[in-house]
Amino acid sequence: MRFTFITLFESLIRPYFNDSILKRAIERELFEIDFVNPRDFAFNKHKKVDDYKIGGGAGLLLKPEPLSLAIESILENSQDAHIIFTTPVGKLFRQNDAKRLSKKSHLVFVSGRYEGIDERVIEKYADELFSIGDFVLTGGELASLAMCDAISRNIEGVLGNTFSLKEESYEESLLEAPSFTKPNIFENIAPPSEFLKGNHGRIAALKKTLALAKTKFHRADLYLKSKILQRIKEDEK
Ligand code: SAM
Repeated sequence: MRFTFITLFESLIRPYFNDSILKRAIERELFEIDFVNPRDFAFNKHKKVDDYKIGGGAGLLLKPEPLSLAIESILENSQDAHIIFTTPVGKLFRQNDAKRLSKKSHLVFVSGRYEGIDERVIEKYADELFSIGDFVLTGGELASLAMCDAISRNIEGVLGNTFSLKEESYEESLLEAPSFTKPNIFENIAPPSEFLKGNHGRIAALKKTLALAKTKFHRADLYLKSKILQRIKEDEK
């Protein structure tokens, strides 16, 4: 698997891969990362990559020519590049997208800056548009990184323990049940006693109940979805 980041600011992204799980995954060649800077494709006098909006409006946009040349340079050497634009107008990125995209062989993330990207480049090259939430960031680098992180941990071998993925939030539209570690008593509070008794079947059943309660409390929308999923499964039996 290969991740290519199109960005004016490689230094905002690269250090994230210098530590911990993702660093080890790169060392073990489970995936690779590379960078393309649109400024290297700005063949005007001052290597200018931004310009005023046609028709007026606040701020500057990334110019179409350097960005499209940057994308073309990737497409020339990749048969299977899947191009993702980061934008607040995209669909919301979800865990299901992370799983689905972890099966691709080459993902390209385009990070916008300033007031965004000339629409014609998006129209021409985007396979998908993603937002990471209903808020506006300064640039697409954090969004690209967040998606890359979520996708890469679904690549086989990246996480030591694949059960971690199965028990995580958003599996079957549920949030993860509350978890506890040592000491058994903290601030006079113990975890549910069932957790300490070692009966794995009963622990799993309790976790499911707690996951449902937590989801209902924090995310009623997901709770309803999970109830519907459950009903469909029961009807299929
Ligand atoms: N003028 C744009 C608008 O109102 O939709 C916002 C541009 S934003 C300041 C600059 C860049 O940050 C965008 O081109 C995009 O790449 C990135 N960005 C901002 N918010 C984002 C979000 N919620 N999800 C993904 N990318 C985002």
